[in-house]
Amino acid sequence: MASDSVEVTARCRETTDPFTIRFEDRGDGWAATDATAIAGAGDGGADDGRRIQGKFRSGAAYDGCPDCGTMMFFRCGGCGHLGCYDGSDAVVCPWCEGRTTIRGDIEELEGVDRGDGDGGRLSKTGDVSGLSKG
Ligand SMILES: [Zn+2]
Ligand SMILES: [Zn+2]
Repeated sequence: MASDSVEVTARCRETTDPFTIRFEDRGDGWAATDATAIAGAGDGGADDGRRIQGKFRSGAAYDGCPDCGTMMFFRCGGCGHLGCYDGSDAVVCPWCEGRTTIRGDIEELEGVDRGDGDGGRLSKTGDVSGLSKG
């Protein structure tokens, strides 16, 4: 009964500083259990590139973004990275600076082309819509 866990790099929307969110496999989905600020340049992250699927939510022990303290997170539809999320309808991605409208739930991370999730409320996925430059 070893519980699987994966670390995914995210960034704070306010400071754009990177941090790591640890997700634990809860059988029916993944729960964020910890967020750790990445000091300095970082070491690349051991689990980068691993693809995990399912429902994503904030676990009871999750203490939020290390920088601003928001408890939720979103996945950018443009670049696929995670950022902290305060519940707004639209956010600016701290990775690609694209404006992202929040809709739907995160069903996978690290870019897997598959969608069969249902339910889950806390974690939102974002899609870049209506890119208007200038
Ligand atoms: Zn933050
Ligand atoms: Zn992005």
